[in-house]
Amino acid sequence: MSSLDPKLQDVYDEVLARNPGEQEFHQAVREVLESLGPVVGKHPEYVDAAIIQRLCEPERQIIFRVPWTDDRGGVQLNRGFRVEFNSALGPYKGGLRFHPSVYLGIVKFLGFEQIFKNALTGMPIGGGKGGSDFDPKGRSDAEVMRFCQSFMTELHRHIGEYTDVPAGDIGVGGREIGYLFGQYKRITNRYESGVLTGKGLSWGGSLVRTEATGYGTVFFVDEILKADRDSFDGKKVVVSGSGNVAIYAIEKVHQLGGTVVACSDSGGYAVDEDGIDLDLLKEVKEVRRARISEYAEARSSARYVEGGSVWDVPCDIALPCATQNEIDEPEATALIKGGARVVAEGANMPCTPDAVRAFAEAGVVFAPGKAANAGGVATSALEMQQNASRDSWTFEHTEERLAEIMRGIHRRCLETADEYDLPGNYVAGANIAGFIQVADAMVAHGVV
Ligand code: NAP
Repeated sequence: MSSLDPKLQDVYDEVLARNPGEQEFHQAVREVLESLGPVVGKHPEYVDAAIIQRLCEPERQIIFRVPWTDDRGGVQLNRGFRVEFNSALGPYKGGLRFHPSVYLGIVKFLGFEQIFKNALTGMPIGGGKGGSDFDPKGRSDAEVMRFCQSFMTELHRHIGEYTDVPAGDIGVGGREIGYLFGQYKRITNRYESGVLTGKGLSWGGSLVRTEATGYGTVFFVDEILKADRDSFDGKKVVVSGSGNVAIYAIEKVHQLGGTVVACSDSGGYAVDEDGIDLDLLKEVKEVRRARISEYAEARSSARYVEGGSVWDVPCDIALPCATQNEIDEPEATALIKGGARVVAEGANMPCTPDAVRAFAEAGVVFAPGKAANAGGVATSALEMQQNASRDSWTFEHTEERLAEIMRGIHRRCLETADEYDLPGNYVAGANIAGFIQVADAMVAHGVV
């Protein structure tokens, strides 16, 4: 672990004491604080106004009971969360995650990251996150609907187009957003399109939102490659996960001339040296909601490896698109041995601090999720723009806006890293650029 500036160490100690047991939140805070040493030296006004302490304390945290009835008539109980972290730049914005591992520490880590990510997009959105320990896997559509309706029965009082605008994340896709929107509309008697993003195209959604996080991550890597006079052409790529972010990252890699040779789910991974067949993958994961093992069964060029690590598959570029802390030091070492030159986080915090250190020591270019996966939330903000003006844009126009935003984030990271004498350090560039934008707004707003 690198040491912190003494002022930042005090802040970090306070975060540990005030938020016991929230390991992922501690990790996310520390990662940002490690970048801010040179900033507090240059900007004493942020210290005087206790900006960093205030940033580490959510503006509001809501925890609620979510009772619902399963298909056999049994009463089930889950816990719901919404953490409204920071509204200095706009309404709270960030996804909902439905996964059995969800607890307050995960929601807070995601909400904290979201503040800086949203700032980097340059769009007027604050940071928030929510979710539940509900597991949609193996549940019928009717059960998922009843759960979503119960979840929204409480959540509706806390959200709104000018207050807090949730979207999807792990376990929350178009189906869940539909049920959540339906219940919000029913309870409030308002057709408030801007209250949720990730909506269906016929009822207020935006083209490219489904593809945006995966596409955006690949656009970001394309900028990294171009800065080195290189391209995706002929590159071997490994992607973890096979959900929303992974599928559309694979699609864009193939469009840009690379080949994705492996992807995974929580059960194992599929290796396909001919390149992942995207139509088959979409059919297995999006239509049948089945396992990656079934992809391998249906394709002669593929083999399935149960358990194990997808990062053992040699590649030029690695795109972790599944979940937090999936690449620790051993997986990073395997990637380095396998020839990886660029690692970009499609997921949120998939690389541990030890993994990031190993990449730096080996000269592997590392793009943090705050920057590399910001395309999803940026396109959510484009969906909000279209809702506000009751307009809908073409696919080409929206995709070009996304590409332009990703180029802008890439440029900003590099320029900020240069300004602080850390050339090529995307982690420092993203953390410092995002922080300064939020901090300046907080100073302007006074002590609130
Ligand atoms: P998703 O559609 O639910 O897919 C998640 C994928 O990751 C699935 O293949 C899942 O496999 C795998 N996975 C989840 N938990 C895992 C675990 N503990 N171990 C191994 N594999 C696991 O979710 P998503 O929207 O693609 O989100 C993926 C990541 O991207 C998350 O970190 C999310 O926060 C981040 N992200 C998403 C967006 C967005 O717009 N959706 C935007 C920015 C960042 P199983 O099916 O076997 O569970």
